[in-house]
Amino acid sequence: MLSDRHVHTPYCLHGSSDALENYVKVAIEAGLESLTFTEHAPLPMEDPLPDKDSSMRPEDVDTYLAEVRTLAKKYQGIIEIHAGFELDYLEGKEPETRAFLEKYPETVPHSILSVHFVQLAPDEYFCIDLDRESFTQKGAEIGYEALYSLYEAAVKKALALPYGELTPKKIGHINLIHKFQKAYSVSDPIDWKLLLDKVKESGYTLDYNFAGIDKPDYGKTYPDPEMMAYAIKIGLTYEKGSDAHASHEVARYFGTATETEYDDWKEA
Ligand SMILES: [Zn+2]
Ligand SMILES: [Zn+2]
Repeated sequence: MLSDRHVHTPYCLHGSSDALENYVKVAIEAGLESLTFTEHAPLPMEDPLPDKDSSMRPEDVDTYLAEVRTLAKKYQGIIEIHAGFELDYLEGKEPETRAFLEKYPETVPHSILSVHFVQLAPDEYFCIDLDRESFTQKGAEIGYEALYSLYEAAVKKALALPYGELTPKKIGHINLIHKFQKAYSVSDPIDWKLLLDKVKESGYTLDYNFAGIDKPDYGKTYPDPEMMAYAIKIGLTYEKGSDAHASHEVARYFGTATETEYDDWKEA
């Protein structure tokens, strides 16, 4: 079944203002059988970003869910539409995040758990995917290897059911730490195969995310093709996501890497 399971909306403060229905129309045009909206859930703390635009506002959550459900009804029989969240895994904020999920348990199977922030001190979080400048500045300051290791530790915690049975068991863009990798050099301390083994052991699914192809300092899918080949080899499940923040990005590049290609990699 061709589905896009990672899609944003105008409710998050850093995306486009395209209406949700426009995303649905592009999805139908692209021949998708289902579409899952995964808006950034409100952060359970003050937004560390300068523009305070990481996520949706808490007061918009119910409106967002109601709007997706209205569309699901309207397009019933044409395309399946689901409502989920892209949830931030934040070290130290597990109780608050769990409290949010308790209010919306029906969204858990459609949601993604992502690491965008690493914890530098008890109340200091650093956003690893904001822009090249802030990333290279932090890398120069604390060391790229240290930054990578913090990220790896956070991903491992995210893979250990931090919210118990309410944990969304799909890990978002697992190697997002590579987003600006062309801008600096690092000896990558992360054993990605081991991390993918952990995804498998924990029974999680991979968000196979096509947004990275459009990032000038990266240019590939998350996970990258080599990691995907390994993921397939060990029998990991994955779900495609465009990570669209504008309607024209729905299903972007879905035709460019196919399961058939992975079969070739498996042989290699
Ligand atoms: Zn976003
Ligand atoms: Zn994300």
